Parts: sequence; structure tokens; C-alpha cells
Amino acid sequence: MADSFAGSAHRRGVTVLGATGSIGTSTLDVIARHPDRYRVHALTAHRSREALLAQCRRHRPEVAVLEREADAAWLRERLAEAGLVTEVTSGPRALVEVAEASDAEVVMSAIVGAAGLLPTLAAVRAGKRVLLANKEALVMSGALFMEAVARFGATLLPIDSEHNAIYQCLPVEHRGGLARHGVRQLLLTASGGPFRGWSRAALAGVSPEQACAHPNWSMGRKISVDSATLMNKGLELIEACWLFDARPDQVQVVVHPQSVIHSMAAYSDGSVIAQLGNPDMRTPIAYGLAWPERIDAGVAALDLFAVARLDFEAPDEIAFPCLRLAREAMAAGGTAPAVLNAANEAAVAAFLEGRLGFNAIAELVARVCDAEPVRPADDLETILEADAQARCAAHAWLAGR
Ligand code: NAD
Ligand code: MG
Repeated sequence: MADSFAGSAHRRGVTVLGATGSIGTSTLDVIARHPDRYRVHALTAHRSREALLAQCRRHRPEVAVLEREADAAWLRERLAEAGLVTEVTSGPRALVEVAEASDAEVVMSAIVGAAGLLPTLAAVRAGKRVLLANKEALVMSGALFMEAVARFGATLLPIDSEHNAIYQCLPVEHRGGLARHGVRQLLLTASGGPFRGWSRAALAGVSPEQACAHPNWSMGRKISVDSATLMNKGLELIEACWLFDARPDQVQVVVHPQSVIHSMAAYSDGSVIAQLGNPDMRTPIAYGLAWPERIDAGVAALDLFAVARLDFEAPDEIAFPCLRLAREAMAAGGTAPAVLNAANEAAVAAFLEGRLGFNAIAELVARVCDAEPVRPADDLETILEADAQARCAAHAWLAGR
């Protein structure tokens, strides 16, 4: 069931989960361009209390959430000094509360990693318009998540640029399998990351700084490393399967270094429909906020003469095995994608702390995926248990080397 916002005069309340991050900041940038359409219900951050204070001053949310009560107390004092009435809460339960609050019609899910799962599911179960950036939540809980979207009448709009592009390239009603709608394949574009064309041997010594220096997109550190290993594309392949009822073999990854085509749908009559734009997340964010309308996102018009050319190549799965690992996890089904995701989160954190080499990220993920049993992922408890066990296994491997 679609929510019907079109033409409504009232300002929609928005909760931004992960407001201080890259997606959160871009979301607030778009919202601030349309004060007639949106008001901020709640903003949440993990530990970045200074950044959240600045956002509270600027956007005047009704509620602000931090992880730790000590940080929340600090923020409460600063806001009181400034004469602001924002209520400040803390902890995981507070995230769920602002996700399901009746004052929020729209929830931007932009926490990074598994920490976003419970509040995102809470927004889905409350029937919100959910703007999904937090792909890890869907990767972990795919079937359960999509069932909840249908059951609770939530409107799920993908914010990941590739999935947002595919959403725009598909018929409005696209559930029930791709073939039913004449779609042969989804073409998921990938920039190739900062190490496109590098050999496995050359990758062995790369640093976190090199991995986080993405050629086209400015993003948080975790997704930047995922882009460098191609695990991001692997997670996106799984994400596409759930969002669009696709089988893994119906999703073709196409490396496209310019990041101008954000993805495509190939139809059985030979047509390929693509969505193009400058690489700026404010485009999919504005699309999700205003859908089915279109609003200004602050993004410059695409200058095709400046782009000049569009290149395409196949991904190198020898140098970047994470893509294959993700495809295998999707094919294995059940808790396998949750295990893959948890092992990857542990591996990326270790890499960013300088405790693990770049190539060992895929090695660690492969070992954990091989060792952990695959169970049916019918309920949340099983999924969270698989996530916790995979993290334990990853930490044990890291400690034992
Ligand atoms: P980021 O690291 O810049 O921001 C993460 C946000 O989540 C911050 O506000 C942080 O305070 C909060 N957070 C972190 N850990 C938390 C925890 N344990 N509990 C509660 N809050 C926590 O990340 P980002 O680049 O904005 O990415 C956010 C999500 O969007 C990720 O899932 C990412 O894969 C996805 N995504 C990002 C981009 C992008 O361009 N940045 C593009 C597509 C998808
Ligand atoms: Mg993406």
C-alpha cells in the first residue's frame, strides 16, 4: 500500500536515524531546502554529540537521541543553555521510539551496519515511509523485512543510488518477480572503487586512508572500505534481490568508472532503461522524500559534454573476492547473508584499526561463512544470534592469528 502525500498541505515529520553521518547530513541539506514540506521530528547519532548539537540548533527537532546517557545529559544542558526545547533521550530503545513515533511520517534509515536493524524494522512495522540507506539491515533480515513491509503497509523507497536508479527504471508496480514485468536483468553499476585495475598482490599493502579515498563518492568510512573491497557491491546484489524479487543470476554487476549511470533495467524486448545523474546522494534522497513528486535536491544538472564518455567493464572477482562471497551467501539463503554481513563488519573495523590487511578482509569473511551453520532466518532472534555468533567467530580468528 502506498502512502499518499501528493498535494498535501501539511509538513511531513521526518526522523533521521544516523543524522550526523554522510547520508544523514545530505538528508538534512535537502530537507532544509523545503521548509514548506518537511519538519524534523527526530535526529539520532551514536557518539558525535557536538555534531548533533549543531544539527539541533539548525533544524530544531522535537527529539534528539544519542547512544550514551552521559552524552545525552551533556546535550540536554547545551540545548537548555540555548533555550531550545528538544527532548534528549538515549539508548537502543530510544532509537526504536523515534522510528515508530506518530509524529514521524517518514523515517530515513541511515545508521551504518547492523545497529540500524531494530529501529528500521520498527519504522516498517509502524507502516512508515521508510527511506532505506542502511543496506545492512535488509541484507541481514531480507525475507522477514520484506514480509513486514507488505504486512504493515510500509512504503519502502531505496536510497542506495543503484537501487534508487533501478526503482526509477522499473514499472511502478514491480512486485511478483521480474519476468512478469518483462524485465530480463538488472544491471547494477559499480565504480570499481579506488583500486580498480589493481592486482591482488598490489592490494596487500594498502592503508585505510587509501581505501577510504573514493574516486567519485564521499561517504562514511565503513561503506568506503566496502566499496574498495567490492563487498559493497556484494551487499547491494543481495539488497537488489530482496527489493526487486530478483534471483542472484538476474543481477549483473557492471563496472562503470564514471558513476554517471546509477544502474539499469534490461527488458525482454531489448530495451535497457538507465538512470543518470551526477554522483550526489541528495538526488536519491530527494526522490525518496518527495516520491511520487520531484523536488529540487541542490544537485547541479548533468553536463554530458563534460562527462564526454561512459565506460563499462566486468568486475575482477579474483582481486576482489567479496562479490562472489556475497553471491554465494545469497544463494545459500537463511542466515548466511547475516553471517556474511557480521563477519564483514568485524573485518572492516579491524582493517580500519590497522589490525588486518586489506586482502585478509575477504579471507576472514570466507572463513566465517564456511564455518558458521546456515539456519532458516524466519525470526529476528535467529538472525541476531547468527550475527552475534559470526562476530564471535571473526574476533576469535583475529585473536588467534
Ligand atoms: P556514516 O558513518 O557517515 O554515518 C553513520 C551514522 O550512523 C552516524 O550518524 C553515526 O553517528 C550513526 N551510528 C554509527 N554507529 C551507530 C550505532 N552503533 N548506533 C547508532 N547510530 C550509529 O555512514 P554513511 O556513509 O552515512 O552510511 C550510512 C548507511 O547508508 C550505511 O548503511 C551505508 O551503507 C548506506 N549508504 C551510504 C551511502 C553514502 O554515500 N554515504 C550510499 C549508499 C548507502
Ligand atoms: Mg550504492
